[in-house]
Amino acid sequence: MNHTHDVTARSWLESANTPTTDFPIQNLPFAVFRRSGTQEVFRGGVAIGDQVIDLAELSRGSLLAGKALQAARAAAQPALNNFFVLGPDVWRVLRHALFALLQEGATQAGALRACLVPQKEVEYTVPARIGDYTDFYTSLDHAVNCTRLMRPDGDVSPNFRWLPIAYHGRSSTIGVSGQQFHRPMGQMLPAGAQAPVYQACAYLDYELELGIWIGQGNEAGEPVATDEAENHVFGICLLNDWSARDIQVWEMAPLGPFLAKNFATTISPWIVTLEALAPYRCAWQRPESDPQPLEYLDGPTNRKAGAIDIQLEVWLHSERACREGRDPKRLSGTSFRHQYWSVAQMVAHHTVGGCALQPGDLLGSGTISGPGEGEAGALIELAHAGARPVELGGGEQRGFLADGDTVLLRGWCERPGAVRIGFGESRGTVLPVRS
Ligand code: CA
Repeated sequence: MNHTHDVTARSWLESANTPTTDFPIQNLPFAVFRRSGTQEVFRGGVAIGDQVIDLAELSRGSLLAGKALQAARAAAQPALNNFFVLGPDVWRVLRHALFALLQEGATQAGALRACLVPQKEVEYTVPARIGDYTDFYTSLDHAVNCTRLMRPDGDVSPNFRWLPIAYHGRSSTIGVSGQQFHRPMGQMLPAGAQAPVYQACAYLDYELELGIWIGQGNEAGEPVATDEAENHVFGICLLNDWSARDIQVWEMAPLGPFLAKNFATTISPWIVTLEALAPYRCAWQRPESDPQPLEYLDGPTNRKAGAIDIQLEVWLHSERACREGRDPKRLSGTSFRHQYWSVAQMVAHHTVGGCALQPGDLLGSGTISGPGEGEAGALIELAHAGARPVELGGGEQRGFLADGDTVLLRGWCERPGAVRIGFGESRGTVLPVRS
């Protein structure tokens, strides 16, 4: 924690001081943007209130110098990879320089104001070149809920409590908020049938996850220790891992999901840095009745502050609700602090066998479900595999997603003694199957 987390700090930009903003001066998340409807080059930006600081414009002026200028130039490019590679000390220098320029009373406020673009006038793109995407499965509540849909007294697989389970995913179809995709076709085995059929996915679902952006990578053969792992993480965004459940069930034995997961993944444009998340860290705990982590997945830093209290919500806006002027319906809400494995443990486990992570690699946290009613991070859990459809209001129900549905993920952090910071949103829409 440092002066950039000071609850009394305010910006000369009034929209950054409203209690409901996602982007106060204590947040300063990064995205890649341009003015909507133009052919401008995409470049890095930082959110403040209802504005974006154009880092390309800022680096051309004289407001920054030294390491902060070097960092801003790296972050001003159409992808943030060259900024990620610079590491936590340089990320911090730029954050602190921007904080100084934005703070109430800053003498250079006028010059910085010339680098601002209103958020409502911009469009975003995926903020980095994603070399590899890995999707984890690290929420015990989600794993238990999914297991019990098939076997009511069943337990999670024996490895779940020993390692953060994951599979290598697909980066080519990751899109930024606003993504639209066609309902996938695929192969599935209808109940009671002897042979599979090829048809449109009928059990389309979302998964509430966080996206973990790798900053500095590691060399092949050089594992990252759990308590060093967060030095390799730049920040966190929202991530919707759309899932075709009927395709998944038929295809996933024995190698895991394939086409059920690789047709679309939607992320939020803004990456909230680990430094901004510092006030919301909590102890990472493991019940004494559960296996304690093997040594390579354990460490005092992770025990002390490995969890992060990020509030998360899923909302659904059907095409009909949109047309009839009804608001989106909140489906569920939970916190990332319940996750069974921490971000540091995911990174440590990913690299322990010698795998190299690279700047811009993206890790999905796995579906985030909490322990209570209404805390499930996927529709299959909320609606009990379609058996108890969720009421949307206006006479609409959902067992699984319908064409025209827009799924919104929202995330924020708040606690007494800290300023609320937010992640913005991830929004994605299901289009009918391609004719
Ligand atoms: Ca997933």
